[in-house]
Order: sequence, then C-alpha cells, then structure tokens
Amino acid sequence: METTGAPTAEHVADVLRHAGLRVTAQRVAVYSALATRPHASVDVVHGAIRDAVPGIALQTVHGVVGDLTDAGIVRRVSLPDADRALYELDFVDNHHHLQCIVCGRVEDVECTVGHAPCLIPSSDHGMRVLEATITFRAICSDCERNGHG
Ligand SMILES: [Zn+2]
Ligand SMILES: [Zn+2]
Repeated sequence: METTGAPTAEHVADVLRHAGLRVTAQRVAVYSALATRPHASVDVVHGAIRDAVPGIALQTVHGVVGDLTDAGIVRRVSLPDADRALYELDFVDNHHHLQCIVCGRVEDVECTVGHAPCLIPSSDHGMRVLEATITFRAICSDCERNGHG
C-alpha cells in the first residue's frame, strides 16, 4: 500500500516488538527504509541506510530483511520481471502489482474487483489455496514516451 513518509522510530520499535523481535538500530533502519521505498531490493535498502547505520554490510542487511520476513512484517514480492528479490512491508492487505516490463517500476493496485476469470483454479489438485498473486505486466508512460512497446 502507499505509505507517506517514514514512520517514527517509536512506531517501528512497536511493530518489531509486536512481531516478537528485539529492537535494534539495524532492524529499525531496514523497516523504515522499506516504509518509504516499497518494492526495494536488498541492495537498495543497503544504499538507503548506509548513512543511518555506518559500516553496515550488505550481508547484514540480507540477514535483517530475512528476520523481518520470517517475523511476518515484511514480505517478499514475487514479480516475473524483477531480476532480484524485492521486499515491501506486509500489511496483510493482499494488494496486487503493476510492473513496467521495460524499466521495472512497480506500483501497488487494489484487489481486483469485478470480472476476475483466473482467480479460481479449475482444479486445486488437492491443495489448499492460500492466495492468488496477480502481477499486471505493463509499460509505464515514461517508457511508452521513450518509444518502447
Ligand atoms: Zn517503465
Ligand atoms: Zn506492493
């Protein structure tokens, strides 16, 4: 979902505690970075927090993102055209994604309403369906202007 601005450190500390995690400067920095940059790769998060957490290693950021994902407050976004794993805060809202196939820009969209022919599988092969993940592959207006697609 769209978030405006960074959450306060106290708010993030609350979220971490509720998720059963110990509050550390690294976790607060990673969570805050994802609040202002949804659909960020670990590289992007690392670049965003290097100033706030001097000397933090990329590998550490990988570990922190993994901790937050395991705790259920961050989720990995699976997108067909992303060349690396992207992450966003998990608000349990089951939104979908629009992704530009040229520049990789990702936007959130609300749950699909109305006619959604492929959301219910014709056969579940005995599996319990948890969710349907929808990615609208698209071309953004910038890329369209630049003559792609
Ligand atoms: Zn684009
Ligand atoms: Zn999203």
